[in-house]
Amino acid sequence: MSPTVESKVRSVRARIEAALTQSGRPKGAVALIGVAKGHPAEVIRAAAAAGVADIGESYVSEGVAKHDALAGERLRWHFVGPLQSNKTRAVAERFDWVHSVDRERIGRRLAAQRPDHADPLDVCVQVNIDGEATKSGVTPEAAPDLVAALGRLPALRVRGLMAIPAPRASHDAQREPFRRLATLLGALREHFGELPLDTLSMGMSDDLEAAIAEGATMVRIGTALFGPRETRPREETP
Ligand SMILES: *Cc1c(COP(=O)(O)O)cnc(C)c1O
Repeated sequence: MSPTVESKVRSVRARIEAALTQSGRPKGAVALIGVAKGHPAEVIRAAAAAGVADIGESYVSEGVAKHDALAGERLRWHFVGPLQSNKTRAVAERFDWVHSVDRERIGRRLAAQRPDHADPLDVCVQVNIDGEATKSGVTPEAAPDLVAALGRLPALRVRGLMAIPAPRASHDAQREPFRRLATLLGALREHFGELPLDTLSMGMSDDLEAAIAEGATMVRIGTALFGPRETRPREETP
């Protein structure tokens, strides 16, 4: 087991538990997803040995290669990056979660390509919570229609919302976009009582405390677990 990864896992878990305690939330209320983009399969093996069973990837070909190299490990695979429609099949066949569904077409393809023997694919709708031109995601106003459309696809389970807010200068300021995402999920839960909307995928290395204070149920952590990304991920052609 890699001592570096192991000690980083311990310190990230300590940050998560401290943030939960601070907000009066129960221990274990947040799942840790180790986002391994830019790191080799061996690093994932070390994380798995340290108890991280949920692995996130942002690029399809990189994620597929590592998934297939680690077929013997008991891991749950989360796709968290932008997804082009011609790359959905590889994801539908291998991943357990997709956090970044931002249009109905992608959801339809994932549903059609999900193997019959597999459990439904758990998905979140990505919301562009700060309206940034450089980020993917639907507007908050468009989220209900997309949730409704995905909710009609039996091969998918719509679990909640994901967002990557712009960085703020302080913890308190950083909580504001996370609070808006949590409020939006609350409204969707009221409106779509039949859907299993229990997931707020929000919080990364630099802002996990603010996200947990606002109700995150999954944090997606790369740098704080694995260090700076060694290989710059290739831009994938659509
Ligand atoms: C890379 C990435 C992360 C992890 O970011 P860090 O700041 O390194 O923790 C989380 N979510 C998504 C969607 C990412 O692409």
